[in-house]
Amino acid sequence: MAERLCIYREVYAKEILTRSRVYEYTVNPYRGCYHGCSYCYARFMKRFLGRKEEWGSFVDVKVNAAELLAKEMTRKRRGTVWISGVCDPYQPCERERRLTGRCIEVLIERGWPIVVQTKSPLVLVDRELLKSSESVDVFFSISTADERIRRMFEPFAPSAWERISALRVLASDGVRCHLMIAPLLPGAEGLVEQLKEYVSSVLIDRMNYHYADGVYRKHGLNWARTESFFRERASQIYGLFRDAGVACEILFS
Ligand code: SF4
Repeated sequence: MAERLCIYREVYAKEILTRSRVYEYTVNPYRGCYHGCSYCYARFMKRFLGRKEEWGSFVDVKVNAAELLAKEMTRKRRGTVWISGVCDPYQPCERERRLTGRCIEVLIERGWPIVVQTKSPLVLVDRELLKSSESVDVFFSISTADERIRRMFEPFAPSAWERISALRVLASDGVRCHLMIAPLLPGAEGLVEQLKEYVSSVLIDRMNYHYADGVYRKHGLNWARTESFFRERASQIYGLFRDAGVACEILFS
């Protein structure tokens, strides 16, 4: 994983348990995401926050996240909480700040269902916590098994292999782990053999945004953002997981 300069700022959030269209709620302990993936849809947050810096080069740390969450849970109806919608909850600063870990502790103590979504093996710092609840699902976003491709599109995110290893560790602990191949990149088919024994389900989506168009162009990969590529590769991966007895869903038609 390449390193970059990132500006961190401590902030006090006014709200943390927000309504979501994907699950009932979402919690984002951070604003901004160090990983700054080239295709990231969450960069719309820059406009929302009035930030001019490059996506990935700033992170606001919501220092009151866990305390605020505990307070808001007393006034809201129990529901599934997605951690996180617009940042990686286990981006590098989580190692020191522990905001995500503390939010998960609060949710588990009160018995709320949790869906964690991450690209980071740092999730293993909460291994004991995550395996202490049956209402936890962990989704690992892995778009390719090919490190060359991963470096082109997600240079500041952990390697595919680190994510694969972390998923295997958590799944072996008995935590329900899922694979999100979204966006589907060349080399994703290599994930099947490495993960079919470990994942409870798989979701596949195409590239839905144009932010990474320049990356495709620069590396001569325009063939990998065509309709036929997405359809053929998704159906190949779908078939391989299905043959291995793993539930798989393609999120585009
Ligand atoms: S890890 Fe997720 S939220 Fe963070 S930059 Fe990448 S796609 Fe965006």
